[in-house]
Amino acid sequence: MVKKVLKFGGTSVGSIERIHHVAQIIKKEHDEGNQIIAVVSAMAGKTNELIDLSKKIEENFDKRELDVLLSSGEQVTCALLAGALIKLNLNARSWLNWQIPILTEGDHSNARIINMSIDKINNFLQENGVVIIPGFQGISKDGLVTTIGRGGSDATAVAVAKIFDTDCCEIYTDVDGVYSTDPNKIPVAKKIDKISYDEMLELSSLGAKVMQSSAVQTAMMYNIPLEVKSTFTNREGTKIFERENIDYSKSVTGVAYSKDDAKITLVGVEDKPGVAANIFEPLSKAQINVDMVIQNISSDEKTTDITFTIKRDDLTKTKEILKQNKRIKYKNITYNNKVSKISIVGAGMVSTPGVTFRMFKGLAEKKINILAISTSEIKLSVIIDEKNTVEAIKQLHTIFDLD
Ligand code: ASP
Ligand code: MG
Repeated sequence: MVKKVLKFGGTSVGSIERIHHVAQIIKKEHDEGNQIIAVVSAMAGKTNELIDLSKKIEENFDKRELDVLLSSGEQVTCALLAGALIKLNLNARSWLNWQIPILTEGDHSNARIINMSIDKINNFLQENGVVIIPGFQGISKDGLVTTIGRGGSDATAVAVAKIFDTDCCEIYTDVDGVYSTDPNKIPVAKKIDKISYDEMLELSSLGAKVMQSSAVQTAMMYNIPLEVKSTFTNREGTKIFERENIDYSKSVTGVAYSKDDAKITLVGVEDKPGVAANIFEPLSKAQINVDMVIQNISSDEKTTDITFTIKRDDLTKTKEILKQNKRIKYKNITYNNKVSKISIVGAGMVSTPGVTFRMFKGLAEKKINILAISTSEIKLSVIIDEKNTVEAIKQLHTIFDLD
């Protein structure tokens, strides 16, 4: 007998028909003798709909009441799914945030799960019960309803897996796993069978939106094995666990891209100690995240060019701050927001020499110019012209044997 958390996302429970389908999945797991705790999202689109309703009352709707409103989406799914399971003659029951309770800490709409009571639910599981828990919410120590951030049902599932010490945590969604790159753009993208937490984190922070990154981070911290799989097919999903459990035959696991960066160059900056600090200090004070930085060697020993990248949304603010900065002297500011960031991610890179060279050579063969570079232990990112995005992904996917 295995104790499992099964988490169903919004599209998986997006209609009555789909809720019946999810009930069948749970019944099958339960019939195989497993103890099941299901964590559910609100029906697809529901949370946004509730936010829109709140805005019709007041643009800045009261935060406490917004959490009461938004938490209702998951509660609806809990009851409908429990009802569907009862119809299949299972002993199913919904356990709402205050009934368990799921204790949280922190602000409304951004709380964190810190604990749950387990005895009542464990007893119910012993009696052959199927437990349905709403994702995305909890209650504070003062008994107020809280929510834990958009996409938070993943975090609930991982927290339940940890606190109930389950054997695994399966994330059911509308794709059948994590892919080597975006399958909508590159049809030869392949489903990854096994991936490490840190690779998954790099991929998800770089644009591959399969799971909430903070939930992956928690799973990594407590070593909770995850599996992402499709609600709608029977295919094997992607297993996510520690790097030590994976045999790396390839240096690169996946290619990710994002189009939310912009590049700025300060031309003809004075070349003397402290200049870089003077440029970046006001940016960090304004919470602007600088990603890559390149400083050229000055040819005349007086001035140099400094290029850096930021989030595209911060471009206007960054230009303002630079223009107002009286502590730096430069000739000109140029910028480019039609760029994209392409990254190769792979824990296998650590032990394979020449990955950097192969990436650069591959892009050069396609005459794609590299505008900036950054690296970490398991990731190599370049900034290129946005128009070359698909060609670059295709080329890197082929070069690193992912097709
Ligand atoms: N329903 C919430 C949201 O849409 C939580 C979740 O689905 O994970 O953000
Ligand atoms: Mg989600």
